[in-house]
This record gives sequence, structure tokens and C-alpha cells, in this order.
Amino acid sequence: MLRIVPVYPELLSIYADRGNVRVLAQRARWRGIDVEVTPLALGEDLDPARADAILIGGGQDRDQALVADALIAQTPALRSAIADGVPLLAVCGGFQLLGHRYVDQSGAETPGTGLVDLETVAGRHRLIGNVVVDVALGGATHQMVGFENHAGRTTLGSDVKALGRVRVGRGNNGDGFAEGCRVDRVIGTYVHGPLLPKNPWLADQILAWACEHRGLSAVLDPLDDRLEMAAVTTAIEVARAQQR
Ligand code: GLN
Repeated sequence: MLRIVPVYPELLSIYADRGNVRVLAQRARWRGIDVEVTPLALGEDLDPARADAILIGGGQDRDQALVADALIAQTPALRSAIADGVPLLAVCGGFQLLGHRYVDQSGAETPGTGLVDLETVAGRHRLIGNVVVDVALGGATHQMVGFENHAGRTTLGSDVKALGRVRVGRGNNGDGFAEGCRVDRVIGTYVHGPLLPKNPWLADQILAWACEHRGLSAVLDPLDDRLEMAAVTTAIEVARAQQR
């Protein structure tokens, strides 16, 4: 049984990020893998031994402030799961809370877990629009598509690599260069969409890591992704038209 744990989905799932959980579970089921989705509710403790993939969605500033203390209390369990090879995908607000702090536009500071050496300070304007990002993962370079909507400007620590290179959009701090972060199997990104339905290659990479953690084969049968890739083609066209 593959265990997928969305963290505080009742608060951190802005812009349909819950779709990431559904796609991961469905792509496993399409391959005959039994899946259990066990949301972590606010106030509950994560059992790292009962997680094969952990997902944290995005949220408004107030949602992030609401969950920060509870999430920080889960840092030891999250660190233990990550050390054991559990993949973690954190989107936007969740990505920001992987770092040391998030300072919103009023100057209010929300502490983060410090799981990844990064920090985020909100800028005066929100960064909103479609994105296309070149991502090298799993031995190939992919065009990751989706949209971004964040006030935060994230700075990565010197030893933290970006997830990808922005081709269309603003990215981590608005300079149109670095997008997201990746430390081994921990992936942070600003890209909503939700992300995984339009980026099946990323869903399958996370699924392969989760299967490997569970002692299942990490070699996944290919799925017919023609519809998903048609959506990617359209998303790239729309994003590039936005750029002109
Ligand atoms: N509240 C954070 C920001 O504005 C994150 C937003 C989000 O999760 N989309 O940057």
C-alpha cells in the first residue's frame, strides 16, 4: 500500500493544489498500485513511517500564519521522512514554509520549518502569470508548465539548487531566472495549475521515488499521456503569447 500524505489540505490547497494529490494517487492506481491518501490535519502528528510521499500546497498569507507553528512542530518527523527517502513536493506557500521565514507585505514574519536553506520576503507587487520552466530531472530536460501567483520573493541558500530555469514567467524572486528548489527528493516550486496534471513526467518521478521508498518497483509502466502533453503544448503557446 502506497501512502500519500497531503499536509493541512484544508488550509494549504490554494489554486487547486489538491489536484496534485489526486493525480499522484490516480497514476499509481492506473498501474495497479494500491494507494492510501491520509491527509495530515492541523494538530495531528505526522508518522514518518506511514508516508511514502508528502505534499504541501499553497495558501494565502493568513493560512500560512495559521499553520506555521503546527508545521514547525512536524519538522523532526518531516526531516526523518526526507532522510528515509520520502519525496516531498511543496507548492508556493508550502514551498515558502520549507525555508526559515516568510515576511508578508505588511512586514509580519511567519517562521518556517528551515528544512531547506531559503527565505522569502514579499515584494510590493504580486507575480502573476503563466510559466514555462526548463527542468532537468531523471536524466531528461522537461518544460514544466503552470501558473504563478505570489507576493513572495524567495532567495535560495548558496548550497540550494533551483528546480529549473524560467523560460516564461517571473520565478522565485521576479528576475525570471531561478524557479523553485530541489534538494534530493525535496521539490519546492511556485507553479500552481495544479502542477502535476499538466506535468506527468514530474508526477511519475515523485511516484517512482515513493514506490522505491515503499519497496515497490520504481520502474513504472508508461501511461498514455497524449491528452496531458496536448495540454502542455497549449499551455506553452498561451504562456508565450502572454510574453509578447
Ligand atoms: N501567500 C504567499 C504569497 O503571496 C503564497 C501564495 C500562494 O501559495 N499562492 O507569496
